[in-house]
Amino acid sequence: MRQSAKTLLVRRRSESSENSGKDEVLEAFDAVCGGLNRTGRTPHWFTARALEDALIQGGCPICQAQSAAERRHLHSFLYEGMMSPLARQDFLDGGGFCRRHFWKAKQIEEQHWADGFGVSILCENLLEKVQEDLYQFKITDDFKRRGLLKIGRTAKRPFRLTPGKGCVTCAMLRDSVEHLLSVIEELLEDAGFRDRYTRAGGLCLSHLQAGLIQWKSTGTKEFAKQTAENRIETLIAELREFQRKHDYQYKAEPRGAEWSSPERAIEFLVGRMPERSL
Ligand SMILES: [Zn+2]
Ligand SMILES: [Zn+2]
Repeated sequence: MRQSAKTLLVRRRSESSENSGKDEVLEAFDAVCGGLNRTGRTPHWFTARALEDALIQGGCPICQAQSAAERRHLHSFLYEGMMSPLARQDFLDGGGFCRRHFWKAKQIEEQHWADGFGVSILCENLLEKVQEDLYQFKITDDFKRRGLLKIGRTAKRPFRLTPGKGCVTCAMLRDSVEHLLSVIEELLEDAGFRDRYTRAGGLCLSHLQAGLIQWKSTGTKEFAKQTAENRIETLIAELREFQRKHDYQYKAEPRGAEWSSPERAIEFLVGRMPERSL
């Protein structure tokens, strides 16, 4: 039964005209961002191009590049990764996708193949593990008390599957940050890139902090730090102006750029608002 489902999945995928090609660029992107067929170091030129594209979109180039990589990774997993026993085992050992990536995977599959067939197989596999877990769970075991007694690592965990804890897409995104930062470090030596980086607003706070810790080039660190300091200074001034215009005495004053400052401040602090449909 499982074999026939898998065969059907392969046929559906290969019949899909929309997905006839994981072309060379997509293969490279998977490699760049730790895709399923990780074969080695990401080509520098490809990451550089992805980051340049990300700057055009505006906002933190790493967040933008990761958003594209996330989609590619999920597409790739559903397209072929899940048919590899090793990749599927990784997925199951990690407790499946996290909430965000499970729903996103479902959305991507519906957009590309309109069937949700692959996701149904993944759910079935996970549910079989959950079934086993629950079957073996002994109601009489007091796991909480065992935990309090700090049996710690040697204590038997009540469940083998923790949903989404080791999400393979989250792991890929975490792994790719270091590489993206190292390429940005090199790109920031170029005046043109520096200019585009500044105009796009630079890195968000968490990626800036990671860069300042990781980068070796003093020049890059100084530049990125200064750019962020300028941005913060402008944001604080705009936020104060935004608040001032809320005073009834100044309410009639026309609204300016400061009106979008709360959104831009949040974007710097924690990244862009998630897409409404994930
Ligand atoms: Zn970011
Ligand atoms: Zn995830």
